[in-house]
Order: sequence, then C-alpha cells, then structure tokens
Amino acid sequence: MLMAALSLVEAGDEVMIVDRAGEIGGAWTTLPLVGLSSVECGVHLLENRPEFYAALENQGVVLQRDQHCQTYWRGRPLTMAPSRVLFHLLVAGNALRQGEMARFSRTAVSAARSARHLTTPFRYPAQGCRELHQSLAGKLANRGVVPELATEISVINVTSSTGVRCTTVGGMMAADRVVISSRAHAPMTIDGRRIEKTLERNRIVTLIVRGFDPARPVSSYSELIGDPLLKRARDVSAFCRPKLDAGAFVLAVQLRDRGEQALAQHGAEAILSHLAALKLVSVQAQLVQSARCEYAYSTLSDASLKAIEHQSCGRVLTVRTTDFADGFRAVG
Ligand SMILES: Cc1cc2nc3c(=O)[nH]c(=O)nc-3n(C[C@H](O)[C@H](O)[C@H](O)COP(=O)(O)OP(=O)(O)OC[C@H]3O[C@@H](n4cnc5c(N)ncnc54)[C@H](O)[C@@H]3O)c2cc1C
Repeated sequence: MLMAALSLVEAGDEVMIVDRAGEIGGAWTTLPLVGLSSVECGVHLLENRPEFYAALENQGVVLQRDQHCQTYWRGRPLTMAPSRVLFHLLVAGNALRQGEMARFSRTAVSAARSARHLTTPFRYPAQGCRELHQSLAGKLANRGVVPELATEISVINVTSSTGVRCTTVGGMMAADRVVISSRAHAPMTIDGRRIEKTLERNRIVTLIVRGFDPARPVSSYSELIGDPLLKRARDVSAFCRPKLDAGAFVLAVQLRDRGEQALAQHGAEAILSHLAALKLVSVQAQLVQSARCEYAYSTLSDASLKAIEHQSCGRVLTVRTTDFADGFRAVG
C-alpha cells in the first residue's frame, strides 16, 4: 500500500495515508522486542520476480542476495527456486480441495511464475523490513505525505458524482478517490447501497527467539513444509539494533496451531528444542529471551475487490496484495 501511495504521488495526486496501527508497515512492521529494536515480527520471503525487485529498487529499497534460503521437505533440504513451484502447487491443491477457486487460480499462477524463474536468485532488503518502511516512508515524507496513524476508518461512503467520505473516530475525511487493498479496507456504501463483501479472517502467530549458540548452522529463510509445529523461520539477527555479539542470534519463527499449543504448554524452550531437531540451531543453543507476536487481519476476496472497483465509477481503486510479489500493480 505504501508503494501504491508512492505511485499516486509520483503521478501528481495529493495523497493522505491513514492507518489504524500506531506504526506504518502492516504485516511487515518491525518493533522493539526481546530487548532489541527493529525486530521483524513477521517471517517474510520476497518471491524471485525480477520486475517486482525492480519496482522496489526504483523506490529506493536496497536489496541483496537472500543467501542460504532453503525449503525443508519433511526435514530434507531442497533448493529454494524449484521448491517454490512445489510450495505453490501444494497451496493450489489445498485450495482446490476446499473449493476455493480464486485462491486456486492465484496460487496456480504463482506456481507457473516460480517455474519461469528457476534461475533467478532470491533477494531481500539489505537491512530487513525496516529498509522497506524507511525507504518508502522517507520518499513519501519528502513529498509532504506523513501518515495519519492510530486512525481507524470505520466506514467508507462513496458517492459516484461527488467523491468519498471516510468516517473515523476523530471525524470525517473527504477525498476524490480512495485506495483499498486485500487487507486494508472498511465497510463500504456506494451511492447509498451497502456493499456485500467476501471476507476471510485470519491471524499469524510468530515467536521471536533471542538466543546464544556458538555453533549455529548458517541459514537465512527456511520454509518448513510438512513440519507439525513450524511453518517458516528467518534469521533476523543482522537487522536488529544494537548489533549482536558473536554467537548471539534472533530467529523469527512462524507457528502452526500445534506449535502454538507447544508454546503455551511447554514454553519457548520447547520451540528451541524443535529448532535444534530441525538443525536450524545447534544442540548447544541457549534461550536468552522470547516474545510472542500476533498479527490479525481480514482478507477481501479478489472477486470483491474487482466488484467494488467496477461499481464505484473510478472512486475506489484496489490493489491485490495477498501475494505481495504477484499481486502488486501500480495504481493511478
Ligand atoms: C504476517 C504476514 C507475513 C507475510 N509475509 C509475506 C511475505 O513474506 N511475502 C509476501 O509476498 N507476502 C507476504 N504476506 C502477504 C501480505 O499480505 C503482503 O506482504 C502485504 O503486507 C500486504 O500489504 P497490505 O498493505 O495490503 O496489508 P498489510 O500489510 O496487512 O497492512 C494493512 C494495514 O492497513 C491497516 N488497516 C486495515 N484496515 C484498516 C482500517 N479500516 N482503517 C485504518 N487502517 C486499516 C492495518 O493497520 C495495516 O497497517 C504476509 C502477510 C502477513 C499477514
């Protein structure tokens, strides 16, 4: 959404950014956690799409090779690029079994795109997620756009002939047009008609593990297909501030339901032991501190996004951000 805001500003629009959170970044927020600042509280991978990397770099985000990213298929390491095809096909297969046709076609497209990029290296912001926010927010600030934070939009009323009015606790905001995304939206009326939308509510739970491990194996991002407790993990040590001493590490680990249960029953030590069994840390690893983060969100279906844009006579622009790299398109 920050990228969408920038493309509008660059096209000459006057832009206002509104977020109910106290910081910008949404799912990519970094927070002070485990006694450090700038800790990534989600676990992220930027898909290897050259045009997407170019779009980020054009906005001033410095990317570097995401070395040591790997997929573990039932504990066995697989090379990242071909395994992304497998990953997207598995998700597409699940969607098909559950009759979710929009998710099926979206992930099947991602599988085909991954197959086209078998030799394209993966890249990640040189300073982690913080790099995304700082570059994008810095560019927006240079153009006089400062986000209005801690401001929830509770209703969006669109009138095709006159414009858009957004209701917030602090009052009404008027605009010519409004941009919403799969995960940044609000109840809406268009010319007095309430818009029915298909919404999926979800949450992602991440455990931030700060520890000490004199013999830690090298890893960056690990996709853990078929693991009962964990979904994915990223070593975010290099991005935290202040810089860590030798042997110290911070891992962001995304939990499955059973991982959450293990955490609740046996504490972060249980997750650390599991990471040692997966060889993401050594058996000598010691826990220093941990923090549980939860990100709750609701996703608008692709069909709802399209229908809203279609019905709003150009007053509502939509950006599909469900799969960041494959969903992004410039708006304007
Ligand atoms: C934890 C997590 C990890 C992810 N990791 C990846 C990844 O590694 N790679 C990838 O390609 N994709 C990933 N995704 C997909 C993700 O959807 C995109 O990466 C991207 O963050 C979506 O951008 P967005 O701005 O639409 O939504 P978000 O990043 O979720 O941000 C939405 C923002 O809108 C605000 N908001 C929502 N509703 C309102 C309202 N009514 N009023 C005011 N503010 C509102 C929220 O506070 C939030 O800050 C991840 C998603 C999640 C949830």
